[in-house]
Amino acid sequence: MREQTDIKSMTLPELEEWLMGLGEKKFRAKQLYQWLHIHHVTDFEEMTNLPAALRKKLRAQARLTVLREELVQISRMDGTRKYLFALQDGNMIESVLMKYKHGNSVCVSSQVGCRMGCRFCASTLDGLVRGLTASEMLDQVYRIEDSIGERISNVVVMGSGEPLDNFEELVRFIGLLSDENGLHISQRSITVSTCGLVPQIRRLADMGLQITLALSLHASSQEKRQELMPVARSFSLEEVLAACQYYFEKTGRRITFEYSLVGGINDTKEDAVRLAELTRGMNCHINLIPVNPVKERDYAPSDQREICNFKNFLEKYGRNVTIRREMGQDIDGACGQLRKRFLER
Ligand code: SAH
Repeated sequence: MREQTDIKSMTLPELEEWLMGLGEKKFRAKQLYQWLHIHHVTDFEEMTNLPAALRKKLRAQARLTVLREELVQISRMDGTRKYLFALQDGNMIESVLMKYKHGNSVCVSSQVGCRMGCRFCASTLDGLVRGLTASEMLDQVYRIEDSIGERISNVVVMGSGEPLDNFEELVRFIGLLSDENGLHISQRSITVSTCGLVPQIRRLADMGLQITLALSLHASSQEKRQELMPVARSFSLEEVLAACQYYFEKTGRRITFEYSLVGGINDTKEDAVRLAELTRGMNCHINLIPVNPVKERDYAPSDQREICNFKNFLEKYGRNVTIRREMGQDIDGACGQLRKRFLER
């Protein structure tokens, strides 16, 4: 049997070419594209302005990627929603909706599992299963938008997986997500978070996108970073920061540094001072996140006073700092926990 074509991962020009290859008229591509990316249909039969013969052809040759909502948990504290979606091959992924005053933000997963091995993270505990296709990343946003009946204005690729370890599909996803013929989310409202794959950061910088890069730093010395993040053995702190600086120079986009505060591990005054030194002269923003405890690991968050002190030190050095408001605390906060719990059941 012929492989079915993943039409939801295709750009409009690609779709035009593909349909013409099937002997169809070019204008059909725009109609199909709108069914996929504006109306988010879940069945070819809903594509009512396409002739029945074309719908039949599509059913035979094309795959319509649609995620199935397996479970949704809604926080009573702040309305955050955590979704567990089933992919068509039976794998499970998580996505999160966060409601802010400035709009709705969706946190998408980029892989099933992860192979980066960060010590405090639940997503990596069972390793990588596979990368998601662009259509599977997109459909997380579409399903959530449809489920709440409100527009999504921001997307952060901070769910399970390492987005830069799934580079081609990630870039395709960003292109489709920001396409004016689709959801048209501004690239400036898209953030990609990475544990620091240096060659891919540089490659991304060279693509001339306007997305925000968030770098998971989590330590201010090479030694401590290596302890928390095995990926740091492949790329030194110096190389990672140089790549971030390069990203800023190429794109003009301010870098976000994410720093999860782990009690007694990376939250001392010395850590704060070193972090301030490391980021000297960089156009950046530091996001402090109290580490979310994961039951398989024995890391605990720093206490409130430690966190405030850490922030104050950085501010004394003139750094731009925020403490990330923890959302959805009552619904399996940390990435990967919901999926893991579900699989264990
Ligand atoms: N792989 C990417 C994106 C996914 S993780 C990356 O590493 O950036 C998104 C963010 O959540 C990263 O900063 C990651 O380090 C952080 N994170 C993972 N588990 C966490 C936990 N238990 N508590 C706090 N932050 C966590």
